[in-house]
Amino acid sequence: MRSIDIHAHLTPQCFWHATEKGGDWHSLRREQDVRGQEVAVVGGKRQILPPKARWTPEQRLADMDSLGVDVHVVSPYVGFYNYQLDTKQALATSQATNDEIAEMVRGWPQRFAGLGTVPMQDVKTAIDELDRCMTKLGLKGIEINDHVNGRTLEEPEFRPFWKAVEQLGALVFFHQSGDTMVTARSARYHLPNSIGNLADRAVTFATLVHGGVMDAHPDLKIVLGHGGGYTCYGIGRMDHGWKVRAEARVHAPNPPSAYLRRFYYDCIVYTEPALRFLIDTVGVDRVVFGTDWPYDMALDWPVSWIMAMESLTPDEKDAILWKNLERLLNL
Ligand SMILES: [Zn+2]
Repeated sequence: MRSIDIHAHLTPQCFWHATEKGGDWHSLRREQDVRGQEVAVVGGKRQILPPKARWTPEQRLADMDSLGVDVHVVSPYVGFYNYQLDTKQALATSQATNDEIAEMVRGWPQRFAGLGTVPMQDVKTAIDELDRCMTKLGLKGIEINDHVNGRTLEEPEFRPFWKAVEQLGALVFFHQSGDTMVTARSARYHLPNSIGNLADRAVTFATLVHGGVMDAHPDLKIVLGHGGGYTCYGIGRMDHGWKVRAEARVHAPNPPSAYLRRFYYDCIVYTEPALRFLIDTVGVDRVVFGTDWPYDMALDWPVSWIMAMESLTPDEKDAILWKNLERLLNL
């Protein structure tokens, strides 16, 4: 039995080093809050970084061993997408992060695979860096936000991006950052994360499907983080909307449910009935193991959690824990 984790983040050492004595990393800064917690300062916004976010690859490997996780498909910390920055600055942070992930993969090829980050605010630059990730650095794809400064990913300016993604065979891992669409309604009770992440992901599914991206690019490999959010639970209503409203059908010849199996979904749904429902809705070959390491929202003992489930067969557990990702990523 193996386990391959598609949802494990990296706050790059180059950020920690550059900000060690109060310096900045391409305009990003770091400070400590009143409780002594490390805080990244991006623009005017402050984001708490957990102690593990500073760990070296060796410390990470020891933690993976204790959790029974064999491989991290390392993806960047989502607070550093930097789509709001000047393209040159954002590209510098992307390149440094991607180089560092590639170095981890080179150092421990049996334990790490990598996803990069690209400056999506400038599609041409994003494609160039995506190409570098895939052809020079040996990464498996990239992680991107559910929107680029408010623009969803089916908008016309992103069509060259999807074409390049498909041609390069890159996996795209969708993961929100900081503010979600829930933030404007209520930023209290941790709702922008606990509900907003799931709402953002359902909108990503729906906009790619209704917007025609999935029909234009049949070979895309897309993983929706956090179990695809509310996608599966809400798919019946999306189908009904497609049936009764012409505007829902303009670019999508098939009902949204026909596209469910075009995506992959990580297993971060927290309860066994929810995971069973996800498997029964999209098929077990579309569900992949993810943990959200190293944050407080991560699954606590992820491998044991899956292994202890009574409603999953041994074959289903193997598919989720490693077989699907081994096949998808050629590991
Ligand atoms: Zn995450």
